[in-house]
Amino acid sequence: TTFEQLSLIAPILDALKDEGYTHPTPIQEQSIPIVLQGHDLLGCAQTGTGKTAAFAIPILQLLQAQPKAAGPQKIKVLVLTPTRELAIQIAESFSTYGKNLRIKNLVIFGGVPQGAQVKALKAGIDILIATPGRLLDLMGQNFISLKDVGIFVLDEADRMLDMGFINDVKKVVVKLPVKRQTLFFSATMPNEIQKLANTILVKPEKVEV
Ligand code: AMP
Repeated sequence: TTFEQLSLIAPILDALKDEGYTHPTPIQEQSIPIVLQGHDLLGCAQTGTGKTAAFAIPILQLLQAQPKAAGPQKIKVLVLTPTRELAIQIAESFSTYGKNLRIKNLVIFGGVPQGAQVKALKAGIDILIATPGRLLDLMGQNFISLKDVGIFVLDEADRMLDMGFINDVKKVVVKLPVKRQTLFFSATMPNEIQKLANTILVKPEKVEV
C-alpha cells in the first residue's frame, strides 16, 4: 500500500514525500481509512510504530475538508497525552504533515508559565495538544472551552494510568461533546484501561500492531 492508495490529499502527500516517507507503517495503513470514515478507533500500539502519524494525518485531512467557519477559530481537535515530551512531538508531527495546510495547532503542558499558552489560545487554534493537568488548569480559568471539539485523541492511555492521571482524563472527558469521534491508543490493555475504553468509545474499530 502507498499513501496515495489511502486517498490522501495532495498537500499532505507532498509533505510526506518531503519527510522521506515512502510507505505507511502497518498501524497507519490500518488506521487512516478508519479515521477518515469517521469511526471511533481503539489502537493497540507502542511508540515507534508510527502511531502519531496514524492519527495526525487523517485528522488533518478531515479538518481540511471542513468548511472554514467565520469568526474566531474554535478548538476542533483535542489530543491528550501524558508527558511534555510526547506533547511536543505530537505538535511537531501535526505541523510537519500539515505544513501545506492552514491548520493551527498549539501544545500546552505544565511546569512553565501559562502566559504564552494563554496568548496563543486567544489567537485561535484548530488543534490542541495537552497534558491533563495544565489543560484542566486552563479550563478552570475559562481560557479553554471544549464545546466545539469534534475529534478527541487519547494517547498512551496505559501510561496515563501509570502516572496517576486517569481521574484527570475522566474530568476532561466529561467536558467533551457527547457527539464526537474518539481515537484511543494504548500500548497495553490492562483491565482498567479496557473499562475506560468501553466508556469513552462508541462501536470502535480495533487495530493492533
Ligand atoms: P511514533 O510511533 O509516532 O512515535 O513514530 C516513530 C517515528 O517514525 C517518528 O520519528 C516518525 O517520524 C517516523 N515515521 C512515522 N511514520 C513513518 C513512515 N510512514 N515512514 C517513515 N517514517 C515514519
